Amino acid sequence: VLDTLRALVGADHVLVGADTQRYCDDWTGRYHGAARAVVRPAGTDECAGTVTACAEAGVPVVPQGGNTGLVGGSVPDSSGRAVIISTERMGAITVDVLAGQVTVGAGAVLSALQDALATTGWEFGVDLGARGSCTLGGMIATNAGGTRVLRYGSMRAQVIGVEAVLGDGSIVSRLDGLMKDNTGYDLGALLTGSEGTLGIVTAARLRLVPRPNARVTVLASLPSLADALALSARLRATVDGLDGIEAVLGDGINLVCQQAGLTAPFITSPAVTVLAEWAGAGDPPAAFVDAFVDLDHLVALDATTRERLWAYRERMTESISRVGMPHKLDVTLPFDRLAAFVDALSGATSPHRVYVFGHLGDGNLHVNVLGPSADDLSVDDRVLALVIEHGGSISAEHGVGRMKAHALGMQRTRSELAAFRAIKHALDPAGVMNPGVLLTDVNHDA
Ligand SMILES: Cc1cc2nc3c(=O)[nH]c(=O)nc-3n(C[C@H](O)[C@H](O)[C@H](O)COP(=O)(O)OP(=O)(O)OC[C@H]3O[C@@H](n4cnc5c(N)ncnc54)[C@H](O)[C@@H]3O)c2cc1C
Repeated sequence: VLDTLRALVGADHVLVGADTQRYCDDWTGRYHGAARAVVRPAGTDECAGTVTACAEAGVPVVPQGGNTGLVGGSVPDSSGRAVIISTERMGAITVDVLAGQVTVGAGAVLSALQDALATTGWEFGVDLGARGSCTLGGMIATNAGGTRVLRYGSMRAQVIGVEAVLGDGSIVSRLDGLMKDNTGYDLGALLTGSEGTLGIVTAARLRLVPRPNARVTVLASLPSLADALALSARLRATVDGLDGIEAVLGDGINLVCQQAGLTAPFITSPAVTVLAEWAGAGDPPAAFVDAFVDLDHLVALDATTRERLWAYRERMTESISRVGMPHKLDVTLPFDRLAAFVDALSGATSPHRVYVFGHLGDGNLHVNVLGPSADDLSVDDRVLALVIEHGGSISAEHGVGRMKAHALGMQRTRSELAAFRAIKHALDPAGVMNPGVLLTDVNHDA
């Protein structure tokens, strides 16, 4: 297989041995695998040749973009059998200003897209803290969410079409950018959120959103989660141009100050620190300004101050990783059950240390548990069971990956899982695409 791959993509782009190491460890430090090789195709045809060779030889394939995924889906298992296909050489970006669309190679990094759009009058509707490393292909594969979902939706809402290599090595391509095309199944939507288990996205056509000329960011101190949720509902109901509502719960704000070297934003540590952002033309509406009048709050009107306020929220992930290897549980709850879920969390995670933050405007919390060893699933399962008990989802935006594959049956019914398997079998008949991710050891009790 390796000789075939070298002939296909060039020996320089088939890495083996120690050169594969950095592709085998995940961002969280919880998952460490081993690979037979890392292959770096230059484009869709080389990618198709690589998948075909692997499928014929029964070699597992792990697609990898920026390797910033937080559920262990981008790294192989420890058997050393898999070939990682890295999209890092597929980073082309072509902006279509007339259409308000962009064609990207799967390996294009989000911040490179943001830079490419800077003077076009357009911007991209999804943004997230890993922007300097995460790729558009990886974001499609995970259906990434981020900080602007309440305004523009997650990745699936941005995808007009994709080009991809399916598990049998065949190429499907729909990069024409047609805004209307009702000719059957939407393969782009199906591949979005498929976590590399059906094929490899090699390029995509994405919609753009109008670039606002003003942004106002507010960081506010809230006395309780119930108050933060009421503020969030008020902002969502009344503010046109609301771009995001984020939150850091409890002691998380002290952790980020210590670990990231930030000054405490408020004299008294808030029960909930809320960050809200408006973006549009001119001044923000009165409803946005009025919502914070009675609260202790800080305002950013310029880019530097804005970056300073965002650091309290965006540097949470790295701050937690600095003090230990977290079990990261990304979950959504119905808004009316969110406070009860958080109240019950300490019981489910005791005696471990827990930090909670997330995208409050979407009901999406990131529960980070420090203490259990990497392979101890007991706390994960207690938290996920609590999520189900409160009517939520065990994965809001990070995907299922290796981490939650054993728990998928808690969320999805027997018939849904049967449909998932039928799709998997149809598009990846040899079962080589990212085995162990999403569909494995599924518990059928749901
Ligand atoms: C600091 C930080 C902040 C983050 N914030 C957010 C956030 O706000 N919202 C959010 O949703 N996520 C967030 N993440 C998680 C992560 O950035 C996203 O999941 C992102 O979409 C992963 O992109 P990637 O290129 O790094 O993919 P990878 O980590 O390389 O891969 C992720 C998954 O996609 C598959 N994959 C990758 N590329 C392809 C491809 N071309 N075709 C098919 N499958 C592929 C992989 O096999 C794997 O299963 C954050 C991560 C960090 C470290």
